[in-house]
Amino acid sequence: MKEQHDFEWHLSDPRTRKWMVQCAACKQWGYRHDAPQKFFGRSHLVKHFEEMKLDERGLCDQCRKAEGFRRSD
Ligand SMILES: [Zn+2]
Repeated sequence: MKEQHDFEWHLSDPRTRKWMVQCAACKQWGYRHDAPQKFFGRSHLVKHFEEMKLDERGLCDQCRKAEGFRRSD
């Protein structure tokens, strides 16, 4: 259960929470692609999460691609 504990730690600390983003569709967590190179907890975020870039609707790359495939049907 160590992973779960780490996950909550990131969310509950405003210094790391600030740079975390969640995809509106798949609910996957990641860290902002424009997060600075140095801030409290960055090494933890990088270790546990993927860099994530959300579009204006709050969708991650994966969901954006999946949506593209559906549209082309
Ligand atoms: Zn997603």
